[in-house]
Amino acid sequence: MEYITTIGLEIHCELKTNTKIFCGCANVFGGEPNTHCCPICSGFPGVLPVLNRTAVEYTVKAGLALGCVINEYCKWDRKNYFYPDLPKAWQTSQYDLPLVGPGKVEYQLNGETKSVRINRIHLEEDAGKLVHEGSVTKVDYNRCGVPLMEIVTEPDLHSAEETVAFLEELKSRLKYTGVSDVKMQEGSLRCDVNLSVAPAGELGTRTETKNLNSFRAVARSIAFESARQIEVVSSGGTVEQETRRWDDAAGEGYPMRSKENAHDYRYFPEPDLMPVVMTAADVVRIRATVPMLKNERIEKYVGTYKLPEYDAKILTSDREIADLFDGAVALGAQPKKA
Ligand code: ADP
Ligand code: MG
Ligand code: ZN
Repeated sequence: MEYITTIGLEIHCELKTNTKIFCGCANVFGGEPNTHCCPICSGFPGVLPVLNRTAVEYTVKAGLALGCVINEYCKWDRKNYFYPDLPKAWQTSQYDLPLVGPGKVEYQLNGETKSVRINRIHLEEDAGKLVHEGSVTKVDYNRCGVPLMEIVTEPDLHSAEETVAFLEELKSRLKYTGVSDVKMQEGSLRCDVNLSVAPAGELGTRTETKNLNSFRAVARSIAFESARQIEVVSSGGTVEQETRRWDDAAGEGYPMRSKENAHDYRYFPEPDLMPVVMTAADVVRIRATVPMLKNERIEKYVGTYKLPEYDAKILTSDREIADLFDGAVALGAQPKKA
């Protein structure tokens, strides 16, 4: 029997705003533990959130760069869970009415154009960080309340190669728009891999692997989990729906907990925040801030400037270099010489 691997991603991306999503604390990576905190992001009783407008606009900007519909009306919900990294005991997020989605992203793999459908993009607050030191666990709330965008794809990917090629495209678009640093090593870009195996035409039970902090880890975990599930089902077993953790040093994944379902979170509307209304005029204004992305620039460099594709790819690998090149050409430089 031949099994097809199916993959859907949940990508978390921290937004590079100056301040946190619901308070005025600085949004910076690192710092002495618990020094970028206030009563709001530390979850004191009775405090009220104030929404960061830039975080909303950055999410819309990212949505436009990812070929998504921007929803005119979205609201906030509380996702309840009790864990020390989240002092309020709920995460303010978006449930049934997210800011962005659906949409579709095209990417290239070995000269072929492929696509992944985006289910939604919603905005939420990041949680704090737990630091385990021997038998002691410490908590750092500096990251608590950092604006976090969650991009959910449909299960349209079928290999590690496709997944990494898609993630490269996504990362490039987010980097070009400037809404995030997209640094996996600093956690500003994180990715969970949902994966199932089944005979062609069917969809199997999925597992969700977390803790993937490089594209290499994403690829290795897919190879591991796909082989593990094929082994389970081809020997007559059934795959458990569960959340798994990837141990990159060991090169293997292991079960972390059985998967919770949406109803376990007791989602309910956030009473302390107004819904967000995005008018067509808002979308037009934000769309004007989306720069020309990598693929459009490659087309322009090859088509209009007659550069070899190789040169065009190097020039566009980084937005700063592409901007510098465009600037030089705009001032009259001959493209190939520039
Ligand atoms: P949850 O919020 O509980 O994680 P979702 O329905 O939002 O559930 O799905 C999360 C992710 O799982 C999505 O990226 C989706 O594409 C992916 N997914 C859903 N079903 C499957 C499946 N059978 N195989 C692989 N991925 C799947
Ligand atoms: Mg999930
Ligand atoms: Zn704060």
